[in-house]
Amino acid sequence: MRRRISIFGATGSVGENTVALIEGAGGREMHEVVALTGGRNVARLAEQARALGAQIAVTAHEDALPDLRDALAGSGVEAAAGTAALLEAADRPADWTMSAIVGAAGLAPGYRSLAHGGVLALANKESVVAAGPAVLSEAARRKARIIPVDSEHSAIFQCLAGEPRAAVERIILTASGGPFRTWDAARIARATPAEAAAHPNWEMGQRISVDSASMFNKALEMIEARELFDVSPDQVEVVVHPQSIIHSMVGFADGAVMAHLGPSDMRGAIGYALNWPDRAPLPVERLDLVALARLDFEAPDTHRFPALRLAREALSLGGLAGAALNAAKEVALDHFLARHLPFPAMAAVVEAVLERMNAEDALMTRSPRAAIRLEDALSVDHLARIHAVEAANKLQGTRMNRAENA
Ligand code: NAD
Ligand code: MG
Repeated sequence: MRRRISIFGATGSVGENTVALIEGAGGREMHEVVALTGGRNVARLAEQARALGAQIAVTAHEDALPDLRDALAGSGVEAAAGTAALLEAADRPADWTMSAIVGAAGLAPGYRSLAHGGVLALANKESVVAAGPAVLSEAARRKARIIPVDSEHSAIFQCLAGEPRAAVERIILTASGGPFRTWDAARIARATPAEAAAHPNWEMGQRISVDSASMFNKALEMIEARELFDVSPDQVEVVVHPQSIIHSMVGFADGAVMAHLGPSDMRGAIGYALNWPDRAPLPVERLDLVALARLDFEAPDTHRFPALRLAREALSLGGLAGAALNAAKEVALDHFLARHLPFPAMAAVVEAVLERMNAEDALMTRSPRAAIRLEDALSVDHLARIHAVEAANKLQGTRMNRAENA
């Protein structure tokens, strides 16, 4: 039987790589493509849906439906739009689903697709950051397998294969340090969105690239690791490794450290999830260790990159603090990309939201892990966004006053 697959966020950076790998693995001959989803880029979405013979193509934007319909005319592919249509697409049975929408918007579709009990290839780290306990217990209940696609977590997953989980002492996440690794604080304070999106090693979507520059990406990944691998917060470490060749490591009780190495190419982690539990040849560059000659490591700097400190705070608050941190970060990122706020203000917004919700919102901190439901995470996400807009406006007001008085 051909494997039924769906790709959420097919037109994005991870989505395009997934489509390419599936085409390389026989495309529609070998796979029954159920649903492909995208955003405004309906021309590309329709092209993918035609090439893979998808049952349905869904755009997240209702006003883009006429264009999607036009682009699919005569193809036999159904067209749909909007949030409800995304969920309906997630309800269509699939054996393998790629969750590659960016942001908390990917949470509900990914969660719904766990009901099929197949593989959920999880690129959307925001799902586990915001609602880890709910996502993992739903996966267990439905006998679905979550295979991480974030390169670090794919690496950790591979390092853990066949190892006794009780012997895991620590998880060492590697971080490239991003484009501002060597910049001083004053220069970082003036950084533009274009500078922040210029990642030194990885080619990714704009939002995750800017998150890499602020190290909020690593902050999310610390929480993601804690949730996915059931370790305590103090077992998660971060080391800066500018070459991004070691994708992450696991340290064991006997002092041994297992590392996963590979080129900085997401097709490695996506292909692993696609072929799991097997390994199949992938079209990625092979490492030339002699050409690389050396691998460097340094301690992360939480003064220039407070996101890492905020992740520790969210981890020690526990409960749904990850949902609040992620939502506040998404709002702050919107403000930075729109040039309403300077780069360092993103961390200030997140800090203000965590502090306020810790003081005011019982749901965020007082939910015992086992009791956390998807709806709780969505409520905390919603409230954190409201507080974050307020915090961002306040910071922007302060800046404008300062500019007027200057
Ligand atoms: P991207 O911005 O390139 O693509 C995002 C996709 O989601 C697009 O198809 C877009 O149309 C869709 N989308 C955006 N907003 C949406 C919304 N509100 N509702 C429905 N669909 C929406 O993003 P990306 O870089 O491919 O990242 C996707 C996910 O994978 C993110 O969670 C990211 O953190 C994670 N990830 C990406 C990489 C990478 O190399 N790009 C690496 C590790 C993890
Ligand atoms: Mg990553």
